[in-house]
Amino acid sequence: MTKLLRSWVESANSESCPFPLNNLPHGVFSVAGSTPRCGTAIGGMVIDLHGLEEAGWLDFSGALKTGSWNAVMAAGRGEWARLRARLTDLLAEGASEATALAAHLVPMRDAQLHMPFSVTEYTDFYAGRHHAFNVGTMFRGAENALPPNWLHIPIGYNGRASSVVVSGTPIRRPHGQIKGRDDVAPRFGPSRRFDIELEMGAIVGQPSNGPISVAEAFDNIFGYVLLNDWSARDIQAWEYQPLGPFQAKAAATTIGPWVVTSAALEPFRVSTPVREVPLLPYLHEPGPMLYDIALEVGLTPEGGHETIISRTNYREMYYSAAQQLAHHTSCGCPMRVGDLLGSGTISGPEKTSRGSLLELSWGGKEPIEIAGGTRTFVEDGDTLVLRGRAIGDGYSIGFGDCAGKLLAARD
Ligand code: MN
Repeated sequence: MTKLLRSWVESANSESCPFPLNNLPHGVFSVAGSTPRCGTAIGGMVIDLHGLEEAGWLDFSGALKTGSWNAVMAAGRGEWARLRARLTDLLAEGASEATALAAHLVPMRDAQLHMPFSVTEYTDFYAGRHHAFNVGTMFRGAENALPPNWLHIPIGYNGRASSVVVSGTPIRRPHGQIKGRDDVAPRFGPSRRFDIELEMGAIVGQPSNGPISVAEAFDNIFGYVLLNDWSARDIQAWEYQPLGPFQAKAAATTIGPWVVTSAALEPFRVSTPVREVPLLPYLHEPGPMLYDIALEVGLTPEGGHETIISRTNYREMYYSAAQQLAHHTSCGCPMRVGDLLGSGTISGPEKTSRGSLLELSWGGKEPIEIAGGTRTFVEDGDTLVLRGRAIGDGYSIGFGDCAGKLLAARD
């Protein structure tokens, strides 16, 4: 396990800081209404990469001023590594350029964070063993909880890129067509069982056109963000058969503001869990391609205090993002720079490690305790925050909060 890399930005050197020199996550920011541009978090600061390029410290052909990381991703893996190496040198403790570079730092609290990249396509998977078992048990009974294909295929559906928003964007409770088990006819109205899904989003940084291997897929992933796949369970329950979720998940998906690169996560690679049945050869992992990332979900009611409602780990997933991406291309489906792959809800084996309220409250039957009340599903005014942290030797790699507040449905 690598150790903390020390920086001349002092706040980056504490063990609890989510953004040490080892991390260098990529985002897009503006200050006081300026044009959004690419930045990297270091300690409690954001370093303005467009500013660094204008001042001659970096040379990436203007890609850093575009207000999105797509151009850098498209430039290829060699350029990803060159940028990381250059920033690591410039920000290292003892760097001779420190005084001049400090002019390009902005305090995190002054930076407004924007969508870090343009989401070209969005696919969401269903790759958490515990989540699939829990939801399957509630919807179909424990006997038929796991569909017969689940242990063979990373199940997914093609979602909507148009409704992916960055952390901090308010979410409006959606309307939809709903029919409860005992209702004779469906009605149209606001969702009453609005939920979250704790996920990681993998970002495809290199295009492909035709089937690619799991190893190639791993190399094509630029980095990861926290992802909340907001889900209207009552709309979902009525619409999902036979083609899967549609309007239940199309209202909004929130992603975190910081893309943590695959390079930063390299020391935290772990294997997927033991296979319960052998996978077909095209899905075999040539090495550990999942990551050990501690995750939690906080819920804060309007005007209230936060309760951590779930703690789990990304390593609980049955399929890695590389396996999902390889499977996605297996029919020849082209993938584009900026393609976003949701992992599927990350639930652990414990009751307190479930990644959705549907599971935490067992379909609404067992309300959970929060500060000042109870919850079955998300209520108007609630703010949900996802957090993630890979814990190293004397440092940790954070993702920044992935937050969203639920607003009441429109009349
Ligand atoms: Mn999902």
